[in-house]
Amino acid sequence: MNPIVIKLGGAAGVSVAPVLADIANLVRAGYPIVLAHGTSAAADELAARVGHPCRQITSPSGHVSRYTDPETLELYVMAAAGGVNKNIVAALQQMGCNALGLSGVDGRLLLARRKAAVRAVEGGRQRIIRDDHTGQIEAVNGDLLTMLLASGYTPVIAPLALGLEGERLNVDGDRAAAMIAGAVNADALVILSNVPGLLADYPDESSLIRHVDPARLAAVEGLAQGRMKKKLLAAQEALERNVPTVVLADSRRAMPVAAALRGEGTVIGERVLSIENDRLQIKDLRLRIEDGALQTAEQVTR
Ligand code: ADP
Repeated sequence: MNPIVIKLGGAAGVSVAPVLADIANLVRAGYPIVLAHGTSAAADELAARVGHPCRQITSPSGHVSRYTDPETLELYVMAAAGGVNKNIVAALQQMGCNALGLSGVDGRLLLARRKAAVRAVEGGRQRIIRDDHTGQIEAVNGDLLTMLLASGYTPVIAPLALGLEGERLNVDGDRAAAMIAGAVNADALVILSNVPGLLADYPDESSLIRHVDPARLAAVEGLAQGRMKKKLLAAQEALERNVPTVVLADSRRAMPVAAALRGEGTVIGERVLSIENDRLQIKDLRLRIEDGALQTAEQVTR
C-alpha cells in the first residue's frame, strides 16, 4: 500500500489534536502515513521571546518566506526540530501511534541548495539578501521513509534540510511535503491549514474552490495571496512527481484528515469524490471513515 503524506500547518489557528487523532486511527487501521509539519507560529513566538523578531522576505513574484539570518536559523531549528516536532511525536505516542521524529537534516532525508543571493522586494524596491539560510530541496531520501514505514514507525518530519556543505537550512514545509510525497509514491498529499482550502474570494470561506483540474492550476494562482501561493506551488510540484491527488483542507473541523480524503477542501488532481476515477486505496479510505467505525478493505470494496 502506498503512503499518504499529510502536511500539518504551523500557523496560528491550525488545530493540531484532531489531525493527530485521525492519523493515529489511520495508522491503527493499517494505512502508512508520513506527517510533515510547519513551524511558523512557534518560530515567531520563540523569536519574539528572545528579542529577535521574525522578518519576512517577499520575492519579486510575490512569494513570502521567513528571512533566515544565522540567529533566526538557530531559533528556527529549536522551534522546528525541538519544540513542534517533539510535541507532535509525544502526542501521537500518547495515542498509541509509534511516531518517530526527524528533520530533513537526519539521515540526509532532505538535501537542499542554499540560495546564496535572494531577491527581495521592500517598499516597492528590490534588494539582494546574502545571509539567508533558506534552501530549495533537490533530493529526498525516500528509502529511509520506506524503511521506517515498513518497520511500523510513523515518520514526523520537521521542515529543515541539509545543505550541500552540510549546513542546516530552513525549507518551506508545504514544498518539503510535496517532495516527500513524490519520493514515497504517495497516493495523496493532504495539506491541512487554518482555511477550508483555496478561496476564490479570500477570506470569504463560502467561496471555497472544490476542484481544480491540474491542467488549470496556473489559472487559479492569481486568487492566492501570501502563504497560499506556496501551497499551490507545492501542489504543482507534487503532481509533477506523479502524486495523483493533492487536497488543501481545513484542520479546524472534526475528523479533518478523513474529511480531506473524501474531498472536502480543494481537490487538485484525481477527484476523490468520483468513484469511477478514484484510486482504490483512497476510495477505501473514504468509505471506511464515513462509516464511523473501522471496516476492512474487503468489506468496503465488496
Ligand atoms: P500553514 O502554516 O497552516 O501552512 P499558512 O499561513 O502558510 O498556513 O497558509 C494559509 C494562509 O494562506 C491562510 O491563513 C490565509 O491567510 C492565506 N491565504 C491567502 N490567499 C488565500 C486564498 N485565496 N485562499 C485561502 N487562503 C489564503
